[in-house]
Amino acid sequence: MQLIANRPLTGTGYRADPGEFFDTDPRTAEKLLRKGAASRYYPPMRLEPKAVTVYENKAVVPDENKAESEPRGRGRPSKPTKCHICGDVLPSRQLAREHCK
Ligand SMILES: [Zn+2]
Repeated sequence: MQLIANRPLTGTGYRADPGEFFDTDPRTAEKLLRKGAASRYYPPMRLEPKAVTVYENKAVVPDENKAESEPRGRGRPSKPTKCHICGDVLPSRQLAREHCK
């Protein structure tokens, strides 16, 4: 098990200065952790799921941009509007206004 020494440590199969990583058997590691003489070392590999999440977030952004830029390209944004006379839903406000003239 990989640990980080909290103070100078010397033992069977390991020797570490404070802040140094060292490898030891699980039983010794547990003893050192309980004493507070060492902390658990999490290898950088554990950060990988985080990196994947960032990618997922990035992938969402272009879709949002696309959805936003669409009405802008059409000039005036048209909203589905109900004709207030017959209640039909029409693709734009102007069409609804002129529907039952
Ligand atoms: Zn109508």
